Amino acid sequence: MKIVQSFLTKNPCWKANVKRADDRYVTFQERGPLGLMLHSVGCAQPDAGVFIRGWNKSTYYNSCVHAIIDANTGDVHQLLQWNYRGWHGGGSCNDTHIGVEMCESKYIKYTGGAAFEVLDRTKARADAMRAYNSAVELFAYLCDLYQLNPDKDILSHREGGKTGIATGHVDPEHYWAGLGLSYSMNSFRAAVKRRLAAAQNGPVYLIQVGAFRNKTYAEAYLRTVQAAFPGAYMKTKDSA
Ligand SMILES: [Zn+2]
Repeated sequence: MKIVQSFLTKNPCWKANVKRADDRYVTFQERGPLGLMLHSVGCAQPDAGVFIRGWNKSTYYNSCVHAIIDANTGDVHQLLQWNYRGWHGGGSCNDTHIGVEMCESKYIKYTGGAAFEVLDRTKARADAMRAYNSAVELFAYLCDLYQLNPDKDILSHREGGKTGIATGHVDPEHYWAGLGLSYSMNSFRAAVKRRLAAAQNGPVYLIQVGAFRNKTYAEAYLRTVQAAFPGAYMKTKDSA
């Protein structure tokens, strides 16, 4: 999985996070996400760059997701820090969930609402599978990072709508169903679980960026690191 950082620093949602505009942003940043929500874009645009250019504007208030997956390459473009509060699902899920969009194939054509025609079934399915596989990897990575349980903590936008924490959209299940794929959110959660289990017996990798005897120096360096990685924190060598 390739993660490219394409932060939406001009989007008002990014700015609200930098300013820690209200308690919802502060809480999300300090606590981290409690869950992950999967979306698909709902239009025949496989190129993540098109969305990134549209969203990285100071006048764009409609949405700001944590990541978008390019359907042509499978690359993950990270748009927000993972512990920033995003604007992706409407409703209270924005206070708790990371939101990830999958781009959709150009080999479909929307005909109204969530209905679409398939222009080239083989190519469209390949695009959907590429994005799905990257999403599985990304969600396994985020479950590992934030100690989330795939069975309980992963939802689609559609599922979020049904439980009342998101707006009533149908993504991404409508996309898979329209392509005749056997994918479902249950198959997705199971695939994330298999990914996680495969890594479970391996070593634990910690990323360290400094070590100090003097606490003042340590705190000064921590502030420098936090400018780029707000989730960074300090602990002593012997603490858990
Ligand atoms: Zn959605």
